[in-house]
This record gives sequence, structure tokens and C-alpha cells, in this order.
Amino acid sequence: MIYDCVIIGGGPAGLNAALVLGRAKRKVVIVDDGQPRNRVTHESHGYLTRDRIKPAEFRRIAYEEVLHYPSVEHRVAIAEKAERLDNGHFRIELNDGQQLTTRKLLFTTGIKEVLPDIQGVTDCYGQSLFNCPFCDGWEQRDQPLAVIGMEDRIMHLTKMVHTWSQDIVVFTNGASVLEPEQQLELQGKGITVITTPIAHLEHRDGKLQRVILSDGETVERSGGFVMPQFLPKATFHDTLGYELNEQSYIGVDEMGRTSVEGLYSAGDAAFKGPSQLIIAAAQGSLTGAMIHGALMEEEWSLQPANS
Ligand SMILES: Cc1cc2nc3c(=O)[nH]c(=O)nc-3n(C[C@H](O)[C@H](O)[C@H](O)COP(=O)(O)OP(=O)(O)OC[C@H]3O[C@@H](n4cnc5c(N)ncnc54)[C@H](O)[C@@H]3O)c2cc1C
Repeated sequence: MIYDCVIIGGGPAGLNAALVLGRAKRKVVIVDDGQPRNRVTHESHGYLTRDRIKPAEFRRIAYEEVLHYPSVEHRVAIAEKAERLDNGHFRIELNDGQQLTTRKLLFTTGIKEVLPDIQGVTDCYGQSLFNCPFCDGWEQRDQPLAVIGMEDRIMHLTKMVHTWSQDIVVFTNGASVLEPEQQLELQGKGITVITTPIAHLEHRDGKLQRVILSDGETVERSGGFVMPQFLPKATFHDTLGYELNEQSYIGVDEMGRTSVEGLYSAGDAAFKGPSQLIIAAAQGSLTGAMIHGALMEEEWSLQPANS
């Protein structure tokens, strides 16, 4: 069997692409290993009609809607290898030993996050520490917040967090990422900057209580924001040779096309700007329509004209 499209990654980007393709009667399989980026969080925000939904419930509804269309399949597996064949099709190898062949291939594999190596951060991430103020700022409004980061974009993040709470302490965990004038600027807004390394975070079931510094000082905080390192999850660059964008994710044009004919990407996997469920879903929808358009053009030119 040759699929019209294999979709690697069943988050909002992949699922919305599958919805568009299923409704266009396309033979599609979604391969997903069930490790969505937001699985650590208790609630998702900012998706119109789904604000405050639990991530597992979002996925349940999404799969129910997508699998309503009989030409769409779902495989729980890891795609381990992908190659482009001489005829322009793709072959994908799964970790259960199965192989899939497809005319078009879509990577909606998302990104992975590496959190700062500070005891307690992983326990609090998604519970009281978050990375995106648009996603989780409202729930933390007017609270005593920590902003933890060792990169210079901490200045931008702190300014952003200031929209939701003016009670902020910035922790650089020993890193010299803020210029003296930036520290003065923050102090002018009533924001304390602490450069002493963090020993650990004290929390109750992921709810931050205080930040303990290496010199023994204790700072009471009830939540906040942390800056993970973001890395691509797709591992197929060596065999497919697609171009990367300036941030080292999969490079795509505005229609989701990569530099490799027949290969597409959408959502966080092709990350360029804000990373949110509704943006990933919209990109998946657009890319699904583009994939159908490309398949339709190929078929149109092969069909004999009625005379
Ligand atoms: C703590 C936290 C809170 C967040 N809160 C919000 C929020 O409130 N609102 C909001 O809009 N956004 C929020 N986000 C961001 C949101 O989760 C992402 O923007 C969104 O999930 C991106 O969708 P995606 O489809 O691109 O990728 P994902 O949702 O990450 O889906 C990718 C899927 O592909 C699978 N996959 C990857 N590689 C393979 C492979 N080789 N084989 C098989 N499967 C594979 C993954 O396991 C995953 O299931 C939050 C993120 C985090 C970390």
C-alpha cells in the first residue's frame, strides 16, 4: 500500500493536517509516539473554544474528530528512519519493524526542551513554572514570580512577565547575562536581580514555594517562568538533507514546503516564532491543503482527458 501522506507527529499540527487530508479522501497515516510537548502541564490556554482544556482532553477530541474519516489511520510508534526513493516517494521505518511508503511526507514532530539543571525545576515545570507568558501569564497574575534564565533573552522575558505581575525576582543562576545598565533598568521598575547560583527550588507537588540560593539565602516565590533550551525533535536531516531555518529547525516556505520535493513540515518542528497550539494547528491545516493540492495536480496531469 502506498499512502498519499505519512504524518510523523500527532500533535495539533499533524492532526489538523490529517483532518484536512482525511476530508479530501486522502489515504493518511499519523505516526505518533505519544510524547507531546505540553504533556507536563495541567491546562492549555488561548485556543479559541478550548481555553483552559486539559492537554489529554484536547488530544482525545482531536483524535476522535480526525479518525472519523475512514481513510485516516493512527499508529502508535516511533518513526526511526526516513529516506527518499528514486521515484520521489518516501520510505519510513518504524521502531516496531514496519515500513511505510508514501507519496508525500509531513514532519510535525515538535520540539524538545532542555530545562536548566537546577533541582526542583523539572518538578515545577508545567505546574507553577512555565516558559510562555501568553500561555500561562494570566493564571499567575499579580503573584510573587521568579524569572529563571541563563540567556540574554531573559531581559525580554522579564519585560513580558511584567505585564502580568510587578512582583518579580530575576535569577540568572550565576550567569552574567544582564549588562549593568539592564540591571539598573530592571531595578528602576522594582525588579530584583539575583546572580547568585540557585541551590534548589522548594515546592509542594510542583507548586513553587521558595528559591534557595547557594549562599543559603531564601527567596519566597509562588511561581514564575523559566527559559528552557529548545531543540528540534526531528532526526531525519542526515538522510533527507532538508535545509534548516536560522534557528536550526526544519526550513519551510509559507506553504510548509521544505527544500526537498514532496517533504513538508509544520508546527513547532518548523518553529519560527511564537509556539502555540492554535498556531501549530493553523500551520498544519494550511500545509495539509498544500499537500492535497500537490497530489491533485500530479493526478490531474496523469488522467486522460474526456474527449
Ligand atoms: C509547559 C508547557 C505549557 C504550554 N502551554 C500552552 C498553552 O497554554 N497554550 C498553547 O497554545 N500552547 C502551549 N504550549 C505550547 C504547545 O504545547 C506547542 O506549541 C504545541 O504542542 C505544538 O504543536 P505541534 O503539533 O507542533 O507539536 P507537539 O504537540 O509537540 O506534537 C508533536 C508530536 O510528535 C511526536 N513525535 C516526535 N517525533 C516523533 C517520531 N520520530 N516518531 C513518532 N512521533 C514523534 C511527539 O511525541 C508529539 O506527540 C505549552 C508548552 C509547554 C511545554
